[in-house]
Order: sequence, then C-alpha cells, then structure tokens
Amino acid sequence: MKPAPMPEQGAFDLVPRFKDQGYGPEDVGRRRAWVEAKLDVSLPLVGACAIPTADMRGNIENPIGAAQIPLGVAGPLLVHGLHAQGTFYVPLATTEGALVRSYERGMAMLTRAGGVTTRVFADGNVVAPWFPFESVADAHQFVTRLPGCVDQLKAEAQATTRHGRLERVDTHVVGRAVIVGFHFHTGDAQGMNMIVKAAERACRWIVANGLAPRFQIFSGLSSEKRASGYLLSGVKGKKVVAGALVPADVLFLYMRMTPKGIADVWHSTIIGHLQANAIGFNAHYANGLTALFIACGQDVANVANAAVGITDYEVTPEGDLYASVTLPSLTVATVGGGTGLGTSRECLQMLGCAGSGHALKLAEIVAATVLAGELSMAGAIGSGEFVSAHEEYGRNRPHEDRD
Ligand code: NAP
Repeated sequence: MKPAPMPEQGAFDLVPRFKDQGYGPEDVGRRRAWVEAKLDVSLPLVGACAIPTADMRGNIENPIGAAQIPLGVAGPLLVHGLHAQGTFYVPLATTEGALVRSYERGMAMLTRAGGVTTRVFADGNVVAPWFPFESVADAHQFVTRLPGCVDQLKAEAQATTRHGRLERVDTHVVGRAVIVGFHFHTGDAQGMNMIVKAAERACRWIVANGLAPRFQIFSGLSSEKRASGYLLSGVKGKKVVAGALVPADVLFLYMRMTPKGIADVWHSTIIGHLQANAIGFNAHYANGLTALFIACGQDVANVANAAVGITDYEVTPEGDLYASVTLPSLTVATVGGGTGLGTSRECLQMLGCAGSGHALKLAEIVAATVLAGELSMAGAIGSGEFVSAHEEYGRNRPHEDRD
C-alpha cells in the first residue's frame, strides 16, 4: 500500500518535487537554491556535502545537503568482551566541549586499570501491535488460542526477511484489548523496518484466520524511541553490561577520588533520581550514546530508549572500586539504516565494526565507552572539577562576548 499523496497546500508552497524523488546532485542543488531564494539565506556549507546525494535515498527525503557535526576521537579503551577484544579508539561526534576529553579520561583510566569486561545478555527487537475485541471474553479466547499458532506466525514473518527471526510472542491484556509482543532476532540490523514488516504480515494472518477482527501495528508498549520501565527487563535491543575493577591508586591518579568518594556521589545522586522518579539510574548515558550514534550512523532517536540503564559502584573488601553499567535496550547496528552512509561507515571501520557480523562487537564497545563516561562524570562531580572542566573546554560564548 502506497502512502497517501500530500494534499495541495493552497497559498503555501510545497518544497519542489523532482522526477524520481530528486536524489541526483543537480536536483539537490536546485532544491537548495529554492530554499536559499525562498528564505533569503545562503547555504554554502550545507551544500558542501561529501556524501554522494544518490546514496541518501532511503535515509532522507527532500535532501538539500548535509548537516556536519565535529568529530573527535577518544581512547585508548581496552575491552575484554566476547565480541570486542583489544584496544579501541572511539569516534564521537558532538558540539559539547569537554565531552570527548571526559570520555578520554575515563577510557585511559579503565585501560590503565586492566580494561573493561563486557557481555551481551540479550539480543533482539520487539514490535507490539494492538488487537481490540468486543468483550473481555473474546480477548481471553484470543490469548488462549494464540500460543497454538506460533509456528504459523513464525512462518509468515519468515517470508518477509532473510536475517530476521521471530523468536517468541507474548501477550498483555488491557481491558478488552490485547497487546501482542512480537520478539525478533534482527541479526546485525537495528531491525525496525524489518520487524514491523514481518509482524504486520503475521498480524494479517491472525485476522485472515479469524483469531481477531482487526489490529493496529503499534500500541506503544515496545517503547521504540521512548524511555520506559518496560525496557529495564531487556526486551528491546541488546542488553549489554560492562564492568571494571579500578584499583584505588589508579582511580586517584586519574580522578583525584577515592572509591568511597565515588560511592558517595553515587548514593547522593540515587536520592536525586528517586526524587525525580527517574527510570533507571545513570549520570549521562545519553552523552556518549548520542555522540557515538551520530558518528556511526545509528538512528539517533534511539538514544531515548538506549539511555535507560543502571550504573553501579561498589567498594570492594580490598578498598578498590568495582564499577558497572547495564544497558538493557541498546539498539545498535552495523548493517542497514544510516550505517553505510558517508562518514558513518568510516567511523564503524575505525572500530572494526563495519558490515555484517559486527553488531555485538559494536554493542560491547558502546557499553565500555558509556562506563568510561560514567566514571569520569562521577569523578568530576566528586572532586569539584565539573564546572572548571567545562570552563576550560566547553564554553562557546558568542564572538562579541570574547573580546
Ligand atoms: P533497513 O535498512 O530497513 O534494512 C536492513 C536490511 O539489511 C535488513 O532488512 C536485511 O534484509 C538486510 N541485511 C543484510 N545483512 C544483514 C545482516 N547481517 N543482519 C541483518 N540484516 C541484514 O534497516 P532496519 O534495521 O530494518 O531498520 C532500521 C531503520 O528503520 C532505521 O533507519 C530507522 O530509522 C528506521 N525505523 C523504522 C521504523 C518503522 O517502524 N518502520 C521505526 C523506527 C525506525 P532481510 O530483512 O531481507 O534479511
């Protein structure tokens, strides 16, 4: 089914349309020139775009060029994962001064401490359609019958994808409606396009075979691009944990902090998170995730779900620090989406993660990166260096204010 055409806008001008959607460089240039004339602006930097415009098909509509974000590198980061093993230098795209330096400090400390252990505990993605019924009794009958149909649902889903695999379905009854969670393995792809298509085909089979009168493909339960408590149980994306033992002397060398000092920061900020009714507990997963997602062509809006997680610090009996991060909903990919576009592929290559067979490796590197950022932030808060670090690296006053 094709999307409905855009209605005419009357007095308002639509962005010009070109044959075959206008991805050629001439059409992109004409569209940009139209914007420049219409808005009386000049866009030479937007137009100075290194990505071949033809490659943008499938990633954006109405292209006029590219936005550019500065790219830095942080490392060394020593990782002992099942999939990521060795020392990495991590590309981070951001405009927040002090961010790269902060992650670099955490990475250098973790590497000096002996490295980060990473493991992936769950790997999948979920879409959760909505099935309304006439009565609670009908909803109950559906829930009772559905488990007997799982093999047929798997076969329907499988007909739409080579790499996706429907692994299980679960049901959530609300009043006279039933939300069905379709849980997929998505290979090295983030998988939303893949699994929504597969789930829709399975839902059509459900309706065609009289199990339900109708469905709506999204219910909201799956928490795509939203933070929710549902994510904490590891039902969406990759559940990845990174942990490291940081000897007290190494901690002091890099952070001017004791293990107890870090644990005290953790305790006080737990109180703040409780007061805020936060989902999970972490200092700033969103910072490292966003910078890494932009660099590596991930869907940046997935930071909303991926940044749900729990950071933990313990003082060991020997007086050292054990630090960990748990990311229950890390939706990262090395295939599909924006991963092959322009600089994204180059950044994935920096990590040895471009293409098939590398999504779990990327997930482990991301988790180790996030741990470095958590430790550096806790250290900066506890040692009182947070503001001075931003003063040194992170101010961008307008030029007239600098004189
Ligand atoms: P995609 O770019 O639409 O498709 C990637 C395709 O790559 C897969 O479907 C798969 O084909 C193929 N593939 C080749 N090698 C693979 C491998 N090793 N592992 C897995 N797949 C492999 O990407 P997607 O991951 O399905 O979807 C991500 C995109 O969806 C993002 O751009 C995101 O912004 C967008 N998105 C969509 C929705 C939605 O509801 N549709 C929601 C949010 C975001 P086969 O399927 O034939 O195996």
